Amino acid sequence: MISLQESITKKCLQRYFLFHDKSENQSLLPESDNLSAVQIKKNIVIIGAGYGGLTAALRLEKLLRKSANYKIHLIDKNPYHTLKTQLHEAAVRNTEVTIPLDRIIKNKNIRFHLGEVKFIDVANRIIHIYDNAEEEKLTFDFLVIAIGSKINFYNIPGMKENSFALQTLQDADLIYEHISKICASTASKDNELKRKENLRFVIGGGGLSGVEFAGELADHTSKCVTNFGINKKEVEIIIIEAADRLVPFMDKEFSERVEKKLIGKGISILKGSKIIKRTSNQIMLSDGSVIQSGNFIWTGGIRVSDLLRSSGLQTGLAGKVMVNKFLQSKDDKKIYAIGDSANAINPVTNKPVPAAAQFALQQGRLVAKNIFSEVTDKNKEQYHPQVLGEVVSLGRHLAVGWLALPFIKKVTFVGFLANLLKAAIKEKHIFLLRKESRNWIRY
Ligand SMILES: Cc1cc2nc3c(=O)[nH]c(=O)nc-3n(C[C@H](O)[C@H](O)[C@H](O)COP(=O)(O)OP(=O)(O)OC[C@H]3O[C@@H](n4cnc5c(N)ncnc54)[C@H](O)[C@@H]3O)c2cc1C
Repeated sequence: MISLQESITKKCLQRYFLFHDKSENQSLLPESDNLSAVQIKKNIVIIGAGYGGLTAALRLEKLLRKSANYKIHLIDKNPYHTLKTQLHEAAVRNTEVTIPLDRIIKNKNIRFHLGEVKFIDVANRIIHIYDNAEEEKLTFDFLVIAIGSKINFYNIPGMKENSFALQTLQDADLIYEHISKICASTASKDNELKRKENLRFVIGGGGLSGVEFAGELADHTSKCVTNFGINKKEVEIIIIEAADRLVPFMDKEFSERVEKKLIGKGISILKGSKIIKRTSNQIMLSDGSVIQSGNFIWTGGIRVSDLLRSSGLQTGLAGKVMVNKFLQSKDDKKIYAIGDSANAINPVTNKPVPAAAQFALQQGRLVAKNIFSEVTDKNKEQYHPQVLGEVVSLGRHLAVGWLALPFIKKVTFVGFLANLLKAAIKEKHIFLLRKESRNWIRY
């Protein structure tokens, strides 16, 4: 039997192939080794159709609509846009978190390329894309790198082999299936110790994705309790965080609120604890203690794909592209990087901007504007991140958040109101995508 998410993915693929006529592609794309043959228009290539890349593509398309000289190319390894900020919900509740890209870019001057970029030849201006074994080469005049981030296992022994990650739709599917199986299989087990171990869920990392997942899981396990007649006390959720507080990049007061709410949901929090080893059923900590569990979800760090380092572009912390105040690569002014792939600096604090969807969206809009300014000989705009607010969801009906409102510094929301705010942020993103693309009908 295929899962709901699998069927959505298959549906997206079918739609993609129906929408993209192969002959049309062939006439417009360079024939594998004869790149110069069809280079009439200048190519603006965007790698990654996530928050940053899709926003940049749609905004650029709007700005360049009247110009016949440029063609926008959008590349992604999936035919859908993933609402990554909702992945924890998909992992626990199997909710829908993808939007087919063809619906968003239909009738636009955007050519979509399905495939994984495996090499960026900076010197020769060629992107190497692979769709299964088929290679496509695409030249660029401007390039926007928006490939997001992937999980970082920090070479902790056994971590990669024995943990679940939560970065993609496929990750979410795997976790969903695992939790469902665990709940069902425990119901028939008599050994009390084995039952407890089976129902112990450990989350490595108390950042945004870790706490949001933990909150969601706590709600779900209560359903597991009701449906399978499991004693509530047998279920245990533990968050292990190396720093001395949860969501460390947020205000201290905010972290304390998040922690209080999670403890209220029965979640245990181990702060200042480093994981040094993972086996199939154990988590070893630096203080010598060992936690027995087969259910381990690692959300403790991100890094950018090696693709960027191998391109020769200057990269910094976690492999992010080093960018200037206009978000251009420090090595090459025709290459921009945004979102989780960029080491963008906040000029006020002089610190790197955190990996968050709201910054990826702002950066996507800015690079579109800056590329447009370049091609129309106007002045480019400097990057100034705006923190509009933060919301952390802690389960289905609970969240903690704040909003920056005019004249008032911060308005804090806790509980159901904050949850409504989080839902509103998601809806706003979908609304803006629809507005930018104009012809997209909600799936
Ligand atoms: C569980 C979870 C909860 C989160 N919650 C929040 C939140 O509440 N608020 C918030 O602000 N942020 C949150 N984040 C972080 C946020 O999702 C990211 O910061 C944001 O997605 C970054 O946007 P991006 O455009 O840089 O990359 P992404 O949105 O990750 O998009 C990258 C795209 O690039 C594609 N891609 C990658 N490599 C290649 C390749 N080689 N070839 C072709 N395509 C490629 C991918 O398929 C993807 O579509 C959360 C993250 C997680 C995992």
